Amino acid sequence: MTDGADTGAPAGRAASATVTVAGLATSRGFAAGPAFVYSKDSVLSVPEYAIPDSAVDAEIARYRAARAETRRQVEELVAKFKSDTDGLASDVLSNHLLLVDDPTADAAVERRISVEHLNAEAAIRHTADDFRAIFAKMRDPYLRERQRDVEDVENRLLRVLLDRGESAFDRISKPVVVVADDLTPSETVTLPRDLILGFATNRGSTTSHVALLARALGIPAVVGLGDVTSRVQPGDFLLLDGTKGAVTVNPDEQARAAFDALARRERELRAQLVENRAASGAAPAVRLCANAQPGVSLADLSAYGAQGIGLYRSEYLWLGGAADPGEEEQTAAYVEAARAAAQLGDGARVVFRALDIGGDKVQRGQHPYEANPFLGNRSIRFLLSHRDVFRTQLRAILRASAQGPSSVMFPMVATVQELREANNELRRAMDALAAEGVPFDEHIPHGVMVEVPSAALNADAFARECDFFSIGTNDLVQYTMAADRANERVSYLYQPANPAVVKLVDMAVGAARAAGIPVSVCGESASDPVLGVLWVGLGVTELSMSASYIPAVRKTLQAVSADEARDLAERVRGYGSSRSAAEIYADCRALVVSKVPQLGEMQSFLTAG
Ligand code: PEP
Ligand code: MG
Repeated sequence: MTDGADTGAPAGRAASATVTVAGLATSRGFAAGPAFVYSKDSVLSVPEYAIPDSAVDAEIARYRAARAETRRQVEELVAKFKSDTDGLASDVLSNHLLLVDDPTADAAVERRISVEHLNAEAAIRHTADDFRAIFAKMRDPYLRERQRDVEDVENRLLRVLLDRGESAFDRISKPVVVVADDLTPSETVTLPRDLILGFATNRGSTTSHVALLARALGIPAVVGLGDVTSRVQPGDFLLLDGTKGAVTVNPDEQARAAFDALARRERELRAQLVENRAASGAAPAVRLCANAQPGVSLADLSAYGAQGIGLYRSEYLWLGGAADPGEEEQTAAYVEAARAAAQLGDGARVVFRALDIGGDKVQRGQHPYEANPFLGNRSIRFLLSHRDVFRTQLRAILRASAQGPSSVMFPMVATVQELREANNELRRAMDALAAEGVPFDEHIPHGVMVEVPSAALNADAFARECDFFSIGTNDLVQYTMAADRANERVSYLYQPANPAVVKLVDMAVGAARAAGIPVSVCGESASDPVLGVLWVGLGVTELSMSASYIPAVRKTLQAVSADEARDLAERVRGYGSSRSAAEIYADCRALVVSKVPQLGEMQSFLTAG
């Protein structure tokens, strides 16, 4: 057990009983360490008392000093995150500055102190409550989400007044596993990244902000753990398995030692892979790109040797708070990505995916109830029924294409007619910009995500009307196997190596090759070296994945020759439907492990197939 200063553990408290909690594996890897239980409530408990007339001036002065200090802290953070080129952080923090400076809130707090004779902490609390209540009633989801900003600023002011340090996370001075209900974007961006061993959260999905950040940074994470915060106490020792999706609280010595050794070895091997990225071995013939979203910094991508951004999940501009980000806001974010991509080496580009909203990625209050949202008005279906949103986004992407090499692709296309409609919208957006004299790349490649079985089955027809394919295996597996990708109860059906899925990938790749267009895989399966080799053997020309997985895939593709990968794919084709997903995966795994023995040891890199 560690001391309370690092984890908030009260001295002399008995540790929780040993228990294992299951959740969603969201960022692979192992973490072992003390729990830092992040609870908003403990930060928020404030004293309330009446002050005498004679103390009013001093109390107002106390409040003003706290406000000035809060402003200083937020400005410091804005400056810090500007230099980290982390757009998301500065957006969140700029909102905080506006709130700190809000004259109505300021007058309300001072009035409560001078007229109601409340202490400064209680005056702030009541004023923040009023503001939260106003925002809570807003129809606009962006404004409703501002409640979180109010909470953040309120906490910061109260911490200054109560002398509690800048943030709950400031108490972290040793490596910890963060246990929380969920983390807001503003909480996530201010975490001391170097000291986080892993994340375990009650809520959240594999596409939540903390999940994406964890994967981009290579930090193991398990989300959707239900009530893990009530089962873990600060300082409890945790084993977090981000590959299986489990957290063990206070394991016995033996389990702890075994897991510890595994986690340490895994970290060593990962570090070697990252360090060796430029070393021996021919560059793989396929391009290895990163999946990214607004807010991921260029540094995070280049550290792992990404050769471009193969999938830019634009929907995070919508999910991050803004109801409908306007053309200017979108253009600014896309330009940042296009410029970042240009710096990732020869031929690097960013592939902007048009808004993939719906399914589990919903903008609060914006989507009418649907019984089966994954089969509902999602992605291209949403865009074609909200043409104004689609047009604004295409204009922003086109404007960014003048600033750096860019492509655009349409998600969840099920019919050629949908693709034609999307192509028409792209053409119209180009014509409009040309008429306005706004520069853009007139030859911007436009592609289709192959993630619905109908698109794979009819891939030849799609290939005639687009410039590239990108196979989204996350959804292709979900729709082929009829297994909700976010439901751990049917996760046994989540089989990228199932012969049905392999056949669909093969059909899409075959159609792309016949039409002479490139084809990538940008689903999570691309980050598993075993499946990566199979996809390359089938003829895929690019793999795009969470950045931290690139080194292991690169190492594998340096060790396995193109001929070996092709032979493997031929063998798997030959199996037809006669082998199970597990057998196909085992076959591919044997080749990979024979070539890169250290991957056999690195359990977190190879999935169950
Ligand atoms: C996919 O479906 O494989 C994909 C890459 O898209 P997303 O995970 O964002 O749905
Ligand atoms: Mg998808």
